[in-house]
Amino acid sequence: MPSIFTKIIDREIPADIVFEDDTCLAFRDISPKAPTHILIIPKREIMSLDDLSDEDEQTVGRCVMVASKIAASEGLTDGYRLVANCGSDGGQEVPHLHFHLLGGRKMTWPPG
Ligand code: 5GP
Repeated sequence: MPSIFTKIIDREIPADIVFEDDTCLAFRDISPKAPTHILIIPKREIMSLDDLSDEDEQTVGRCVMVASKIAASEGLTDGYRLVANCGSDGGQEVPHLHFHLLGGRKMTWPPG
């Protein structure tokens, strides 16, 4: 069953999209946890980091590259955090691989 992120890719539900190419889509999180909170997702339906196969290597690499480019375009010159929650212990709620780009405030460590 397609996740809510597939519906965003397919433009069935709206999102504030900041970047798109053939591989990835990036859009602002609906419930931001930092002044900048953008989700970078592969267009390919991959559920989580646990579901990666070797053929996904370029896709995931592209998502990370895109995150870095967006961080620069958002002016996150003092740093930022890139997070991928995986599974229930990791706090993943949406079953479509995504990277959270968080910035614009000082992050704490360790995360909760
Ligand atoms: P997870 O907990 O799975 O790592 O993160 C899922 C993220 O997706 C959450 O930060 C949540 O706010 C965001 N999210 C859930 N539904 C929507 C939606 O419909 N639109 C957008 N833009 N973000 C969403």
